[in-house]
Amino acid sequence: MGQRSGRQEIRKKLALSETMNAEADGQNDKEEAEEPKAKDQRLLSVFGVADLKNGAIGLYNIGQSCCLNSLLQVFLMNIRFTGILRRITVPPHAAQKRRNVPYQMLLLLEEMQCGKRKAVSPIHLAHCLSLYRVNLFVQHDAAQLFMTLWNLIKRQMKKPELVEELSDLYAVCVQEHLACQKCSFEAKRSSSMITLPVPVLDSNSHVLKTLEDCLQYFFHPEMLTDHNMCFCEQCGRKTPFLQSTKLVHLPQTLTIHLKRFCIEKSAYIHKLSHYLPFPQDLDFNAVLTESQCQADDSEKAGWQYELFAVVAHSGSTNCGHYCAYIRSLTECKWYCFNDSQVCQVSWDDVKCTYGHSNLHWGETAYLLIYMKKHPQ
Ligand code: ZN
Repeated sequence: MGQRSGRQEIRKKLALSETMNAEADGQNDKEEAEEPKAKDQRLLSVFGVADLKNGAIGLYNIGQSCCLNSLLQVFLMNIRFTGILRRITVPPHAAQKRRNVPYQMLLLLEEMQCGKRKAVSPIHLAHCLSLYRVNLFVQHDAAQLFMTLWNLIKRQMKKPELVEELSDLYAVCVQEHLACQKCSFEAKRSSSMITLPVPVLDSNSHVLKTLEDCLQYFFHPEMLTDHNMCFCEQCGRKTPFLQSTKLVHLPQTLTIHLKRFCIEKSAYIHKLSHYLPFPQDLDFNAVLTESQCQADDSEKAGWQYELFAVVAHSGSTNCGHYCAYIRSLTECKWYCFNDSQVCQVSWDDVKCTYGHSNLHWGETAYLLIYMKKHPQ
């Protein structure tokens, strides 16, 4: 859809951009290192600039990059994330710049901001990602790619305070409990995760009816019996254990992964496309019981969320397409980002991603990104 002419336009525009040009030409590092000041100065001009004022800019599909494009839009439309991204240390040499994912994301953000273009190309970032085995022309899984991108960004942000802020922004903290059912022995372990991977079916393969049910089920205690029994130090033998996960802390940006891709015994992956509604406003205090949480009142007071984005998948497991519905934080309007095509949509359009059992090819929400209403 007008992709070729779009790319030509991009090439022309890129010719004007010194930094991009230098990187595309592969000039040697020495040459680049001698005059990094001017370029970094130019880049500095975008630090602190208000976010995408004209709402939304598309990203050209450069070879099955719909998954990457959707995730990039979710990252870059999050002003709390871009607030961190803008404070990264710019790598001094061209070779380091080419390999640095946060820096390439920042360049892309700058390009998205600097004109009135309908869409820009993520080609330099895609090349950079290919150095870390994130390849183009490959159908990615959005949940996996999100984790890969997040880890690359975290690892390559050199400043410890930014790494900490990034973790604070995304990490869910839980405590895992294992309690012997024959004695008083109990083991606890704290851990954190970047997404909440919630099942959409229960253990009997029954459909969970709402997002709230899925979350409730995720934190539901499970009895480990028979071949799942664990060795109890106190009893000195294998005993039944009660395994539970308690919610300790929720981050400002909460990513919920609906586990719609299901691996059967045959190792065949199929997609669960049944109807699963999710709310615009989500209060975890109303979803979880007292025993499913390990948090104080001030932590719980922040558990009021508002839907920010939906990464939706259409098609089958092997042949599909991703797009992202994102609510602009500056305009409070919903947009659908479908590669280079961006259009304003209504909440009813977003609700079309709830899914339908009879429409296996239909669009279904896969990642839900919620934001705290009252950040502490
Ligand atoms: Zn025991």
